[in-house]
Amino acid sequence: MKYRSTAGISPDVSLEEAVVKGLAPDRGLYMPEKIKPMPEEFFRRLPSLSLQEMAAEVAQNLFGEDVDPTLLKELTEDAMNFPIPLVKVKEGIYSLELFHGPTLAFKDVGARFMARLLGYFNRENKDRLVNVLVATSGDTGSAVANGFLGVDGVRVFVLYPKGKVSAIQESQFTTLGRNIEAIEIDGTFDDCQRLVKQAFLDKELNEKMMLTSANSINVARFLPQMFYYFHAVGQLMAAGADTENIVVCVPSGNFGNITAGLIAKRMGLPVKRFIAANNANDIFFEYLETGEYRPRPSVQTIANAMDVGDPSNFARVLDLFGHSHDAIAAEISGATYTDKEIAATLKSTLETEGYQLDPHGAVGYRALEEQLQPGETGIFLETAHPAKFKETVEGITGKEVEIPERLAAFMRGEKRSVEMEPDFTAFKNFLLSR
Ligand SMILES: *Cc1c(COP(=O)(O)O)cnc(C)c1O
Repeated sequence: MKYRSTAGISPDVSLEEAVVKGLAPDRGLYMPEKIKPMPEEFFRRLPSLSLQEMAAEVAQNLFGEDVDPTLLKELTEDAMNFPIPLVKVKEGIYSLELFHGPTLAFKDVGARFMARLLGYFNRENKDRLVNVLVATSGDTGSAVANGFLGVDGVRVFVLYPKGKVSAIQESQFTTLGRNIEAIEIDGTFDDCQRLVKQAFLDKELNEKMMLTSANSINVARFLPQMFYYFHAVGQLMAAGADTENIVVCVPSGNFGNITAGLIAKRMGLPVKRFIAANNANDIFFEYLETGEYRPRPSVQTIANAMDVGDPSNFARVLDLFGHSHDAIAAEISGATYTDKEIAATLKSTLETEGYQLDPHGAVGYRALEEQLQPGETGIFLETAHPAKFKETVEGITGKEVEIPERLAAFMRGEKRSVEMEPDFTAFKNFLLSR
């Protein structure tokens, strides 16, 4: 299957090229040229399929033309080797717990899949060295670094804003060593993202090094995130819950996650509508209200993985709906919450439902509480484990959050990172020197 650029200028490319390039040369984002619905009988079997069985079938639909089927099944099952349970929080509202992977956030899914797919393509090109550049507001860096750790023919450079990620997050990508290098930028996440985007467009750099992205710009990162939307609905079906009017609420930053859900719907997944829940970085909410897309510098919030002022995947959302604001607003509603509101939700949900949200999940939960109509069933994506934001969460609830052992292990490692100003020339020279 071919992949086309949302900007419509660059020629269509193969899956391998889309994965290795990341961003299209015309600055567009790659999209699958066609979306094939899953067969009806798949949905009949969905409630009885395991996560790995289901993922293998969806992966076959997406990538089956481009990857050896046996190896595709193997790498998909290997990527999806942790549970993603759907947990009832209260009547009509379910949490899809995406934090049971190695770095305790949903990005493990896409990062693990992409690492294995790139490893698969690299087996044919033994001398190739692919440099993965990743800008992170916290969770992408850890998921990508851990997903790619030790993958042959791949080096990872993680750029993160100094002092703006939690200590636990930082430890997950600065302590690994081997093929992972951490770069601490004296600036914001948007600065990191700008440096990475600029690197992809720099002619000299691209002639000298093979660069790709493992942000949700990359098709191999965001498309596999579709797996858990199918799994959520499958679990709802298996529980005998009403699946007529499912509303999925996605705490959103760069909009890769919700885009995967929107494509899953095009593949036949019975979701009635989506909610894109924002923190104070509510550019998309404003777009829904006004029809105008006005990116602006991000502001720091307690749901920091969503502090994005110019969401990359907005281009994909526009593309999916033929740039029609009406069509987008008919399928996606918005929500925006201040830190105070997020904190209040986190606290009250622990007190009244006994459910411990993280700040990102709290944004999603609150939007469902406010917007769910009678007869609808709500699923929100609980995108990270509360322990990743331990200080914040404990400061709000006054109760201790236990750190899972796999997270504690990172914190015992030694931090290694390179400090840098948010200056492209400095970044470029650094890369060229490696
Ligand atoms: C990355 C992230 C988000 C935002 O996801 P997008 O795909 O960028 O919209 C939300 N919550 C957590 C915990 C994240 O790590």
